[in-house]
Amino acid sequence: MKVLVLGGGVIGVTTAYYLAKSGHEVTVVDRQPKAAQETSFANAGEVSPGYSSPWAGPGVPVKAIKWLLMRHGPLVVWPKLDPRMWVWLLKMLRNCTAARYAVNKSRMIPIAEYSRDCLRALRTDIGIQYDERSQGTLQLFRKQAQLDGTAGDIEVLKQYGVPYEVLDRAGCIAAEPALAAVKDKFVGGLRLPEDETGDCQMFTEALAAQAAQLGVKFMFNTGIESLVADGSRIGGVVTSAGLLKADAYVVALGSWSPYLLRPLGISVPVYAVKGYSITVRIKDPDGAPVSTVMDESYKVAITRLGDRIRVGGTAEISGYSNKLEAARQATLDHSLTDLFPRGGDLSVANFWCGLRPMTPDGPPVIGPTRYANLHLNTGHGTLGWTMACGSGRVLADLMSGKKPDIDTSVLALSRYQHRFG
Ligand SMILES: Cc1cc2nc3c(=O)[nH]c(=O)nc-3n(C[C@H](O)[C@H](O)[C@H](O)COP(=O)(O)OP(=O)(O)OC[C@H]3O[C@@H](n4cnc5c(N)ncnc54)[C@H](O)[C@@H]3O)c2cc1C
Repeated sequence: MKVLVLGGGVIGVTTAYYLAKSGHEVTVVDRQPKAAQETSFANAGEVSPGYSSPWAGPGVPVKAIKWLLMRHGPLVVWPKLDPRMWVWLLKMLRNCTAARYAVNKSRMIPIAEYSRDCLRALRTDIGIQYDERSQGTLQLFRKQAQLDGTAGDIEVLKQYGVPYEVLDRAGCIAAEPALAAVKDKFVGGLRLPEDETGDCQMFTEALAAQAAQLGVKFMFNTGIESLVADGSRIGGVVTSAGLLKADAYVVALGSWSPYLLRPLGISVPVYAVKGYSITVRIKDPDGAPVSTVMDESYKVAITRLGDRIRVGGTAEISGYSNKLEAARQATLDHSLTDLFPRGGDLSVANFWCGLRPMTPDGPPVIGPTRYANLHLNTGHGTLGWTMACGSGRVLADLMSGKKPDIDTSVLALSRYQHRFG
């Protein structure tokens, strides 16, 4: 088939790569000058199937109020006169029950674990490099109450067979030696040894180069304006480079997917949740993290990526604005200097924000639509880097008429025909 993949973030590029591997003739279209220049550009770098959970969970509404009032809090809401924001928030609230959380999580874990396995296979098969590390991730607790509160999380890890280590202070220092300098700031941690880390943008660019070798064409600097319906099929895509036609189309436009789909009568409950990161050069390698340390109090992830440290966090619900708010940088700076005071050179920090394409229930939307040749790969929210390779692979399999290695029916758009979503 001739396939047009709309969007050249990590999701579009992994989809294009696996489609090309399956023998299709693929073109990727994106408005940016190269791959992974929007949300996939500077994320926190965690490939973390172990922490693949929906944000909507029991107790979250109460916690959200506390977070909103906290200095350096992980959640910020700027109410807007945008009905889509309120509908999305209401849907998310409806997913905050224990029963919905369990269902949603059970849909996220298999795609995240499968994705990590696909990523490992890519490393073996094509030797892809992206400042990757396989040294687990450490959730660090500053308060005893946080450590005591992990019982529920541990039950879930056990249920899914995810290896974990509950660590005291000395155990945390053994995993992350630089924490010895700040040992009074934390009481313990939860380590997931199977988690990995790496630079999502580096990976995406490297995979795009591999895809190009397989014959994938990239049309960068090309704006996508609309999809043209032709009965029960899509007949073409109107772009700044004219009308493009193919046998099949994939929408992998991240947070912007709903804008292109709505005129076709397809409602995808994806909304933008802004996050921020800073990237700094490592000043003292012995004072830097070896992998990801998640500062649980502020929900900030501090990750070593080669000779840099990436610090990412904050969920800001403020519409589709890309404005960089200085207060958010202060939170990231605070977490880094508090835990790794000698680690990074904050005098030259690259401050960035991206819009996570979030679904209200948590899992991404992967699979068919009511147009026979239109397919979705979007809504990966806070875990798009973790789930990218698996998402690309299963969609390529579905489109090629092959049975994917995991059950993808629970990730399809049709799940929103039921009561929740
Ligand atoms: C602060 C932060 C930290 C994060 N940390 C992690 C992490 O540690 N681990 C993890 O797994 N995930 C993380 N994420 C989430 C992850 O980055 C996203 O889920 C992922 O990047 C989404 O990829 P995507 O390809 O769907 O979207 P994008 O990367 O945004 O790609 C969509 C593409 O579509 C293009 N596009 C959109 N509209 C148009 C149009 N009209 N015309 C042409 N092109 C268009 C854009 O240019 C863009 O390239 C984080 C996100 C943020 C913001």
